[in-house]
Amino acid sequence: MREDRPNPLRALPPVDEVLRRAAPDLAACPRVLAREAARRAVEEMRGRLAAGRETGDREDLAGRAVRLTLEYAAGLSRPHLRRVINATGVVLHTNLGRSPLAEEALAAVTRVAGGYANLELDLGTGRRGSRYQAVEGILTRLTGAQSALVVNNNAAAVLLALGTLAAGREVVVSRGQLVEIGGSFRIPDVMAASGAVLVEAGTTNKTYRADYERACGERTALLLQVHTSNYRVVGFVHETTTLELVELGRERGLPVMCDLGSGCLADLAAYQLPGEPTVSEVVAAGADVVTFSGDKLLGGPQAGIIVGRRDLLERMKKNPLTRALRIDKMTAAALEATLRVYLDPERALAAIPVLRMLTMDRETLRGLAGGLAAAISRRTGPGRVALVEGISRVGGGALPLAELPAVLVELTPPGVGAAEMQRRLREGPVPVMVRVQEDRVLFDPRTLLPGDGELLAEQVAQAIGGDGICVP
Ligand SMILES: *Cc1c(COP(=O)(O)O)cnc(C)c1O
Repeated sequence: MREDRPNPLRALPPVDEVLRRAAPDLAACPRVLAREAARRAVEEMRGRLAAGRETGDREDLAGRAVRLTLEYAAGLSRPHLRRVINATGVVLHTNLGRSPLAEEALAAVTRVAGGYANLELDLGTGRRGSRYQAVEGILTRLTGAQSALVVNNNAAAVLLALGTLAAGREVVVSRGQLVEIGGSFRIPDVMAASGAVLVEAGTTNKTYRADYERACGERTALLLQVHTSNYRVVGFVHETTTLELVELGRERGLPVMCDLGSGCLADLAAYQLPGEPTVSEVVAAGADVVTFSGDKLLGGPQAGIIVGRRDLLERMKKNPLTRALRIDKMTAAALEATLRVYLDPERALAAIPVLRMLTMDRETLRGLAGGLAAAISRRTGPGRVALVEGISRVGGGALPLAELPAVLVELTPPGVGAAEMQRRLREGPVPVMVRVQEDRVLFDPRTLLPGDGELLAEQVAQAIGGDGICVP
């Protein structure tokens, strides 16, 4: 026992005192969060003192505890969900919320979100209406299908369709299409959850019409084709076409369903993007049910869209599961507005951010990259940025092989590694997501939204000191 060394923990002020001292700077912080911040600060200080990493008299310690409290309070007060600048060049980034919405969609959400709307009211009759009315008419017009239904996402659409049309019976799928889409959507698992029994046809790389024929039996309810959205089997391969499946389905009296995944409504063939069948092409080929996402290539809100034969969709609409999977007024508003833009296909390519990004020509990209490079080098000084060629990706489990030619801005950060720079940009006031390659930071202007460039350059400046010396 050494009586001559005072216990350093004694000098640490208690939580209440720290809170009182910090109070003038915490006026805007809810009390419950302020107290939590002070408690954490004192705990942290106690740990540091015990480890001998902190010294000083009571005033020093109190000052540091207050600073820590303010830091923690700021963190606790910041919303978890924040706007992020996507400079990765991955257009449909599931981790970043997939598609940014078109102006029209934003305006539509704003119109209905803060007030009441005729979501389930027919204004003509004054009676109860359907929440799908807003989008059903446009969807049938755009796709040529007889009927349409919208649920929470495409995983829900597939689940609902399988559960309605094939529960307790068999569904035939090619072995080459038993896909897993990111975020644990796996065809065999969704099939099991729906109550349908999966019957595999053919092999991993080759499945012929005859394989489907052999797999069909007494208990078959449906032929299912799944778009291999996020990978391709190449080489010695054969898949049965939608047309062949439809022909077989007609002979056997079996409906054919296509899970298209990304569900493209615009014809992107003219833009060096590998041929993605549009929804109307698949409907025209005779598919009885087609499902796709609202927030992949369509460029709208998260939603699962089902189009197809009226009698089959009527059954789905009556399924109690539909009630559990239904969309809200904000999704209905955003989706209707997005779909309305597609009524003018030329305008859709410019007005829907996802389509605008995917179809940008090299000159536009060069201009954007030049502007971004200038904005960054104004703040970092000369010789730090360069324009380089590279590729952007579609992402979101769509067009996996598509390599979009890109013009990138390459930054060699002064006095700091690229990985550290990437971390600082991610954790900064406006988070910026970038790519890193061989100790360079790469910014792809393709996925920047209007106004993002200047904001991004400011974040870069903050992450690096003004004179090239890094702020720790
Ligand atoms: C993306 C995808 C899904 C899941 O769609 P979500 O809208 O993410 O639920 C299902 N099937 C395929 C083929 C897909 O590409």
